[in-house]
Amino acid sequence: MHEQQELYEHIIFENFGPKSKLKDASLIAAGSHNQGIRLETQEGSFFLKINFDHERDILKKEAAGLALLRNSTFLQVPNVVGFGRVGDYNYLLMEFIQKRRQNSNYWENLGIGLAHLHLTQQSQFGLEEDNFIASLNQRNLPTDKWLDFFVEYRLEPLIGKAYFDRLVPLDFLKRFQEIYPKLNGIFPEENPALLHGDLWSGNVICNEDGQPALIDPAVYFGHREMDLAFSRLFGGFDQEFYEAYESAFPLAPGFESRMGIYNLYPLLVHLNLFGSAYLPGIERILKRFE
Ligand code: ADP
Repeated sequence: MHEQQELYEHIIFENFGPKSKLKDASLIAAGSHNQGIRLETQEGSFFLKINFDHERDILKKEAAGLALLRNSTFLQVPNVVGFGRVGDYNYLLMEFIQKRRQNSNYWENLGIGLAHLHLTQQSQFGLEEDNFIASLNQRNLPTDKWLDFFVEYRLEPLIGKAYFDRLVPLDFLKRFQEIYPKLNGIFPEENPALLHGDLWSGNVICNEDGQPALIDPAVYFGHREMDLAFSRLFGGFDQEFYEAYESAFPLAPGFESRMGIYNLYPLLVHLNLFGSAYLPGIERILKRFE
């Protein structure tokens, strides 16, 4: 406990100088690779994320993702105060989002906000640098065609990793790879759009004004249907959200039938992070192509 206290004080010192004082610290989220701590200081409340990974700059990439999102949407995204390394820990210090009850236009604003975010576009899929989704590497090499990007940098690395880690047998790997040519012509042509990249309901929190705030992104420029499909995978988003999105930035017809394909990616993420409970979901999608 003493050691943790010193760590927090060090981080406060590094970011606010010698005059600032830590008033209180409380653990509010303990995940498999991160801890989330609320720090009370003279400068106000902050959310501190601590990570124990020695080799990879996961939190530095999260800081870059948050900054990019923040510059591209009117929705609240926590301001990054600082990040770095103290001893064995990597840290990310950001604005604390005080949670409140949802305002009546919460879902509508989230829909409009996401559509607006997706209007931030560029000419290629990918990003200037690779980053992470949760603790998994996410490759972002700039690519002209969505199908190439999706297969090469989203599906292939993660089905390969699952095979390498013996989560799937060789015949499953082969069956999976056999769907790639069948994806030709499935995706409507769209400009590469800035995505949140990990849009499940736990990564949208309600702020002090009763409005949605986006956290924990895995940003890149991708097909915007990725974010919408991901949001449907585990539920939790209100119908008003989809209606508002659709009226602000209509989707091409047939989204429902493509949704499973996009969700192969988050399902592979979950398979690699949490194990074979996610295999039947992948199997069901594969079957549609066999
Ligand atoms: P992880 O990457 O370990 O999943 P998250 O960034 O999703 O961590 O944060 C874990 C939890 O901490 C979130 O579900 C949310 O409740 C809370 N949280 C995250 N960021 C903030 C923030 N800026 N302010 C307040 N609470 C936050």
